[in-house]
Amino acid sequence: MQDTTATRDCFIVQGKLALPFQYFAGRTGSRFLTALRDRKVIRGLRCEGCAKVFVPPRATCERCFAPIADNWVDLAPTGTVTGFTVVRYAEPHQPLKPPFIQALIRLDGADTPFVHIVRGVGPSQMRTGLRVQAVWARKTTATIRDIDHFRPLAAATRRRGLTYDELEVGMSAAFTKTITETDVYLFAGISGDFNPMHVDEEFARGTPFGTRIAHGALPQCLIANVLGMKLPGLGTVALEINTRFRKPTFFGDTITATAEVVEKLDARRWVRMELTWTNQKDERVAEGTALVMPPPPEETV
Ligand SMILES: [Zn+2]
Repeated sequence: MQDTTATRDCFIVQGKLALPFQYFAGRTGSRFLTALRDRKVIRGLRCEGCAKVFVPPRATCERCFAPIADNWVDLAPTGTVTGFTVVRYAEPHQPLKPPFIQALIRLDGADTPFVHIVRGVGPSQMRTGLRVQAVWARKTTATIRDIDHFRPLAAATRRRGLTYDELEVGMSAAFTKTITETDVYLFAGISGDFNPMHVDEEFARGTPFGTRIAHGALPQCLIANVLGMKLPGLGTVALEINTRFRKPTFFGDTITATAEVVEKLDARRWVRMELTWTNQKDERVAEGTALVMPPPPEETV
C-alpha cells in the first residue's frame, strides 16, 4: 500500500477531560444561595432608585445602572410562567431525562424572571401564565437545585385529578413522611400485625435488624397519597400495585414515595406507573409498579 501523508500522519486521539473547578459566587450570589440552603427562602434585591426587584439578585440595577444596596426582600415561593421551552434532547449535564420543561418564572413580588424546571404538567398542557409553586429539595446545599422544581399551583387545589389525556409519560409526583413509633403502633392496631419485631424492642434486638422496624406495608401505603391525591389525583382508581421490599424502614426514617407515568395503555385508557420508595439516605427501600384508571373528564362526572 502507498504510504501517503494522509495514512501516515493522520491520527485521531480519543480522550476525555474532567475539569473540577470552584469559584466564589460573589457577595450577592452567596447571600442568595445560602438563603436557599439555610431558610428555604428565595431572596431578591430591590433597587432604591426604581423599586424594581431582581431575582436572582444582582449588584447593579439594569434600569438605573446604579449599585443596589443591601435591600434584600424575601419572596413568596409562588410565581407565574412568562416563557418556556420543552427540552427534547439528552445532554450529560441535564438535570432530568428529556422531555422536560424549562421555564422563565417571575415570582410574586419580583420584576424579573428566572429559569427553573416545571414538573407535574405535560408539554402539551404547558402554557405561559401558568401559576406555579416551588417544591424544595429534601437536602439543601446552596445550589439553585435546592428548589427541586416548580409545580402547577392548581394541581394541589383542584377537585379532580389528571385525566388520561392530560397524563404524559415522564410526569411524576412524590410524598414524603417521617415514620414514627406512633405510626407503627397505630398500624399494628389497624392491621392486627403485632409481630414483636415491630412492637417489642427487646425481641427485635435478637433479629438481624437489631432493632424494631416498621411494617413493610406502612411506607408502602404512602403511595396512596401520590396516586390518589396528586398523580393522577382525585378520582383515580387503583387496579393493581406490585411491590418488592429491598430494605427495612426504621423508626424515624423519612420515606419518599414517588410515582412516575411510564406507559399509557390506549385500549383501556389505563396508566402504568413506576413506583419507588427511598429513605433519607437516598437508599431504595422498595420499588414496584401500579396500574391505575385515571379520573374521567369533568363534564362526564
Ligand atoms: Zn433601579
